[in-house]
Amino acid sequence: MAQTAPFAASGALIQLERVSKSYRRGGETVQVLDRVDLAVPRGEFLALMAPSGSGKSTLLNLLGGLDRPDEGSILFDGVALESMGPRELTRWRATHVGFIFQLYHLLPVLSAARNVELPLLLQRLGHAERQRRVAAALSLVGFPDDRHGFRPTELSGGQQQRVAIARAIVTNPTVLLCDEPTGDLDRHAGDEILELLVELNRRLGKTIVMVTHDPHAAERARTLVRLEKGLVGEIRTSPA
Ligand code: ADP
Ligand code: MG
Repeated sequence: MAQTAPFAASGALIQLERVSKSYRRGGETVQVLDRVDLAVPRGEFLALMAPSGSGKSTLLNLLGGLDRPDEGSILFDGVALESMGPRELTRWRATHVGFIFQLYHLLPVLSAARNVELPLLLQRLGHAERQRRVAAALSLVGFPDDRHGFRPTELSGGQQQRVAIARAIVTNPTVLLCDEPTGDLDRHAGDEILELLVELNRRLGKTIVMVTHDPHAAERARTLVRLEKGLVGEIRTSPA
């Protein structure tokens, strides 16, 4: 197991420099992230592992521009997210980022296909082109053809996560940010989702950052980073 030093890597797709984030709770300030440095090369599949409550979701939300750090800088392809205003950041996110969550976050009243179509409604695409892309994305994630019209409650957890992944990739984003993507699945369904992420990384070259507290999930990534007390700690790179 080789050690890597991702901190100073130049030309990284995503680079965090001394990123800090705290929350106020009651009268107290809780320091969740304390000057975190991290570089994610283009094409990487990085697992960031840490126990619950240690700031994983916080970090992922900062990476995706859903929240802003108190201090420090987040560079995406050399552009500082903190330099963007709210509208620009929203546009940037719609173009570059696909989010995948533990509990799928599908809209219950919409069919699988309609859920996948949602991000495309923000783009100027005709109906036929949207349908074509939705079908391509659902096929890519191995979602059954005969279930496109099913609602989330009519699908298994693994199928729901496939729909959520199709929704995340339908806009062809640069990076996939996954927050405990197998956290609500049994081992078999979870393994299938991890295999799908590995494929999206290898075959489509998607850069993936996955946060998890599950060592088994983290094992499937190419690089594993541990977050400890808000600091990026032990790092290993596997020869995947
Ligand atoms: P993880 O995803 O690793 O479980 P989180 O990033 O969700 O951790 O949370 C890290 C810490 O920050 C926890 O103690 C949590 O309670 C706290 N926290 C997260 N979000 C907020 C918030 N919006 N307001 C106050 N505290 C928060
Ligand atoms: Mg979390």
